Amino acid sequence: MRLRPEVLALVGYKQGKPADTDAFKLSSNENPFEPIPEVLKAIADSSNVNRYPDAAGTQLRDRLAARFGVTRDEVHLGAGSVSILAQLIQAAAGAGDEVIYAWRSFEAYPGLVTVAGATSVLVPTTADARHDLPAMLAAITDRTRVIIVCSPNNPTSTIVTKDEFATFMREVPSDILVILDEAYIEFVTDETAVDGRELSRVYPNLVVARTFSKAYGLAGLRIGYAVGPEYILDAARTASIPLSVTDTAQRAALVSLDHEKVLLERVGRLSALRDEVWTALLEQGWDVPRPHGNFVWLATGQATERAVEVFAAAGVVVRPLYPEGIRVSIGESHSVEKLLKAAAEVVRTLPTEG
Ligand SMILES: *Cc1c(COP(=O)(O)O)cnc(C)c1O
Repeated sequence: MRLRPEVLALVGYKQGKPADTDAFKLSSNENPFEPIPEVLKAIADSSNVNRYPDAAGTQLRDRLAARFGVTRDEVHLGAGSVSILAQLIQAAAGAGDEVIYAWRSFEAYPGLVTVAGATSVLVPTTADARHDLPAMLAAITDRTRVIIVCSPNNPTSTIVTKDEFATFMREVPSDILVILDEAYIEFVTDETAVDGRELSRVYPNLVVARTFSKAYGLAGLRIGYAVGPEYILDAARTASIPLSVTDTAQRAALVSLDHEKVLLERVGRLSALRDEVWTALLEQGWDVPRPHGNFVWLATGQATERAVEVFAAAGVVVRPLYPEGIRVSIGESHSVEKLLKAAAEVVRTLPTEG
């Protein structure tokens, strides 16, 4: 049996470790709040699962189109925004083509690019863990087909500003697809941050990807969406596995939009908690970039393995991203004390560099 060597060489996607029953699972950037009753009701009402879902997702796409000021055809649904990223990459990049993204950025990108048959071009983030957009521009070649910009960036939690993004888009050739991955946009409180909602129809080569997994707490139902030019999204639809967005997920997303006020109030509480955690980490002596997602990035470097153990011993499961550091999600408010206790212990023993 001959399998593709580049696929065999990939490290499979590692899910956050399941936490012990009494430990906090802060390794997958999940929303710690239980689903609102209206969402649970929508799920319970799924008496039609013997039928295939509405492939067009008309109702939800219309709702999203109205908020973005675009047409239904300029909105695309996927079973999580990761599946939309996969479709877009497959639609635009094949063997010999290059896909540029920052590193570190989202762990899923390398695999998506490789499976499409294309080549990843990793552009290191700046010293303060932000996208180096000028360096990403400099990495463009005549093989470049896609550039992914992740803001807030997973795992470093840093943003790209509106101005930085505008300058960048002015320089990117318009025949290169730019994907703005905004999985955590709802947690952003900094008004200088890029916001894909303001960019609908501004660029002929920009697709904005968002998800119901994080802020809206529907990670387990798998639903995300993209907004962008119709012909690009048509190509993504062609590259998609048919009928992978369930009716249950579509209905839960619609109900979530109906009850957005409650959900975004929760998001606001998580963002406030994040800012408190950040301040406390700075006071402990950590050098942490200002976080904008529902997670913080600790550059533990060589001490990453030990840091994971210290957090685990304190009852906190974190995501190690070797060899650079650990990502810790903002979860239940009563997890913070444990998080900070472990962080204090790690920073005390961290070898100081330079
Ligand atoms: C979580 C995440 C997504 C989307 O996840 P889905 O559950 O597939 O919608 C996309 N991009 C980044 C950077 C993420 O962290």
